[in-house]
Formats: sequence, structure tokens, C-alpha cells
Amino acid sequence: MFPEAFTGRVLSRRSDEWPAACRLFNKRIDHQPNCIVFPKSADDVTLAVRLARAEGLEIRLRGSGHNPAGHAMAADCLLIDMSHMRRVVVSRDRQSVFVEAGATWAEFDATCAPCGRSTTGGSCSMVSVVGFVLAGGYGLLGRQFGMGCDQLLDASLVTADGSQILVSERQNADLFWALRGAGNGNFGVVTSVRLRLHKIPKQVTGGITAWPLDQAEKIVPWTQNLLRQKEFEPCSLYVNYARYPYPHGQPSIVVRWHSTDKNQYLMSVIEDAKKIAPPRLVRVGRFPYAAVQRFSDPDLLEFGQHLNGYWKSGYFNKPIAQSEAVLISDFFSRAPSAFCRIHLDQPTGGAITHPDRTDCAFAHRHQTTGLQILSLWQDSADQEKSMTWANQLIDALSPGLTGAAYAGYADDGLQNGPAAYYGKNLARLLQIKKAYDPENIFCHAQGLGQLITDRGGDRDGIS
Ligand SMILES: Cc1cc2nc3c(=O)[nH]c(=O)nc-3n(C[C@H](O)[C@H](O)[C@H](O)COP(=O)(O)OP(=O)(O)OC[C@H]3O[C@@H](n4cnc5c(N)ncnc54)[C@H](O)[C@@H]3O)c2cc1C
Repeated sequence: MFPEAFTGRVLSRRSDEWPAACRLFNKRIDHQPNCIVFPKSADDVTLAVRLARAEGLEIRLRGSGHNPAGHAMAADCLLIDMSHMRRVVVSRDRQSVFVEAGATWAEFDATCAPCGRSTTGGSCSMVSVVGFVLAGGYGLLGRQFGMGCDQLLDASLVTADGSQILVSERQNADLFWALRGAGNGNFGVVTSVRLRLHKIPKQVTGGITAWPLDQAEKIVPWTQNLLRQKEFEPCSLYVNYARYPYPHGQPSIVVRWHSTDKNQYLMSVIEDAKKIAPPRLVRVGRFPYAAVQRFSDPDLLEFGQHLNGYWKSGYFNKPIAQSEAVLISDFFSRAPSAFCRIHLDQPTGGAITHPDRTDCAFAHRHQTTGLQILSLWQDSADQEKSMTWANQLIDALSPGLTGAAYAGYADDGLQNGPAAYYGKNLARLLQIKKAYDPENIFCHAQGLGQLITDRGGDRDGIS
């Protein structure tokens, strides 16, 4: 059925590679598309979009399949998988980088690190750069340089009618606003982006410290206070409740540290942390930035991608209190599987909230602290108890949460995903959706099109 001009790969259900090609990061999401295409160019994407429309097939887009709610896949869809477009090219002046939509952070680092450059990137090297940027993009460099979406200079995009357009501050500026925080699967196929690069020293300070779980009541509020200190602004820390070593070690509070600062400031902070409560493990020092960014890769590579998952996402309405830290510890100590994790790792402050930050669709800049509950399990028989545990924990924490959620950590249990993901920006996003994709060609279960009914009408009276 594919036109001869299509230069990429087409995979049908008859192929031996089919089962592997249908897999997403989250094993719980298990759909059989109609057909999977792997374009090699923007022209291929145009052909795929037009063919899907002609055949009446729903379209889904996949970067690397890491959306926890499986938005990249649906039954009987035409899946456009971008993983055969992975070029990463640093500009001559090293101020920016061109990244195709299938490239991951591993490929990005392999090209940019030798140039002494990087940008705000994700903690898992297998996630696609474009998928991360379109969601908003939290990373260790965020408090120094801004969110991942703040690094976007322009994007090349294939629209609902198959046209190829450039999206930037000057061209299609409304869409440029929308892509930065709400671009995942809502407006078109981003085939490549150009991102701002920053100079990074050869070695940065970073690593992890781990405490026994019963120290959470001291460590968590202390880190919350630290994140609000002016001096700590260019540094980052992530707090995780996880077994350490993962997944079979002791239940622990694991803090991950990072600073590009050459002086000893972060090391002195870590010394202070050790005085709050004696850690059971300290692994900090000077490392290449990419190594610090990938500290959790071994866990994810060995375990994460073979697990069923149910992720809950939220934000606290004020710095996490001692009582909340204890409540989380209590739930974590009763986690239904050794793979479960709870992350307090969506930083704010520093360059993320700097007043000159350009306005865009990412709605959570000023949230206090992010929460992710990762209920992960191996055996599908454990699904009910694993999902119940995550639901009960988020319910117990709900008095202290804002009701917002991060689209990158999509939560398929949310009643109204778009409102939680986009907050006050939702009305403007629906206007832009109608302008660029009135027939909701680019859709998924929690997409903007969910709020637009019957080809151009709407549920909210937004016209
Ligand atoms: C293990 C793990 C670690 C993570 N770490 C971080 C982190 O450190 N910081 C952070 O902010 N987030 C993080 N995330 C979240 C992740 O960045 C987002 O879920 C991101 O959107 C995933 O992109 P993807 O291409 O890998 O996923 P996919 O599931 O392939 O795609 C995600 C969404 O984007 C759409 N999409 C994919 N490609 C395109 C395209 N080319 N054009 C338009 N839409 C497209 C898909 O349809 C889908 O709706 C992590 C997720 C996981 C599972």
C-alpha cells in the first residue's frame, strides 16, 4: 500500500520483527498497530501522513516509546516510528545542535560531549531528545540553563495535511509557543529540532548519597530548604525513594547531586548533608557530565524496560513537610514490589523560574516540587495490587498536591489529563490545535483533541 517514493522501512504484522517493534518502555501497554513505518526523511513522513489519511487509519508517533502512559501507540493505528532518523550535528560555532526526531540522549552526548557542549537533557540515555523537549524537559542542567523546552530554537514539522513547515519565534510563532511543553503528539510530526548548546567543563561535581529510609524525615525537608537557597541555584539535586542497590538492596533515600561549579561548594553541601544523618553510602566526586547524567542508566537498562508500569505524577503545593516525607516512607516500606520507586526530582528555581524566561506552553515552571510514583512490577498478576498502592499513595498525599501533572510523566489514571498537564494554558492550546489540526489527525488518549469533538466543534465552548 505504500507509495514507491517512500524511502524508509515498512513493517507489517507478518514480520518476525513485529513483536519487538510493538514494544514500549512500559510493558503494561500492549497494542497491535496496523502497520509500522520508519521514515528516513521529512518527505517520508509527509507520505506516511497522507497515506494514513487516505486509508482512514489513526496516526500515532513514536520517538523512543518512553511515555509512561503509552501515548505513542494504539490498536490498529499507523505508527510512525522516528527511530531511523537519528542525526545529531553540532553547528560550526558550537552554539547550537541539529537533532533528528529519533536521536536519543546517548547519541546527543556522543556528539556534543567531545565539543565540550551540552544542554538540559534527561536522566535516561535511551529517551528521545525531541520527545523530552516537547514535553518540557527536566534535567540536571535545568536550574543553570532552563528547561529542555527553553533550549528550542526551531523545529521542522509535518502538519496534518502533510505540509512541511518551520516553527520558530518568527515563523508560526503560535505553534512555537505550543510545542514547548505541549508538542507531544498534538500538532504534527516534529522531524528535527535545533537546540541551544552551552559550554560544559570536562568534569563536573556529582554523584549520589544514600540514607536508610528512616532518615527521610530529616533529609527530605533539609533538601527542600536547600533548593530555595540562592547559592544553590546553579546546582541540582534529585531525591528518590528506592531500594539501593536497585532493586534488591535496602529501602533508601537516594540523593543525586550535580553542579558544573569548579569550586568546592557542592562538596561542602554534601558534607553538611552527612552531618544531618549518617549516610549508608557516599559516591561523589568529579566525573564527566554525561556520566553524572546517566547515573541511573544501569538500573533502567537492566530492569526498567522489562517491567509493567503505572506512573502517578503530581506537584506539591508547598515545600514537602516532614509529615509528608514520613507518609511517603511508610508507603514505600509497604511497596508491592522491589522495583517501585518514588521520585521527588522535578526541580524548580534558578534559570527555570528566571523572570526573563520566554513564555511557552510548559505550565509548571513555578510549581514547588514534583512527585512521581513509579509502581513497577514483573508479573501481570500483580497489576491490581500495584496500581492500588500507587492510587492510595497519591490519594493520601492529595491535600498537599496542586492537581497538576507533568505531560512527560503521563498518568493514564487521570480523569482530565489535558487540564492537569497544561493548566492555565489549555484554552490557548485548544485554539492553536484547531488552527493546525482541526480534524484531530494527531491524537492520543490524553491529547488536546480529546476536548474537541466532531471535526472542529468543541466541548468547552472555545471557538
Ligand atoms: C526511564 C525514563 C526516564 C525519563 N527521564 C526524564 C527526565 O529526566 N526528564 C524529563 O523531563 N522527562 C523524563 N522522562 C519522560 C520523557 O522525557 C517523556 O515521556 C518524553 O515525552 C518521552 O519521549 P519519547 O520519544 O521517548 O517517548 P514516546 O512515547 O515515543 O513519545 C512521547 C509522546 O511524544 C509524541 N511524539 C514522539 N515523537 C514525536 C515527534 N517526532 N513529533 C511529535 N510528537 C512526537 C508521542 O506520540 C507521544 O505522545 C523519562 C521517561 C522515562 C520512561
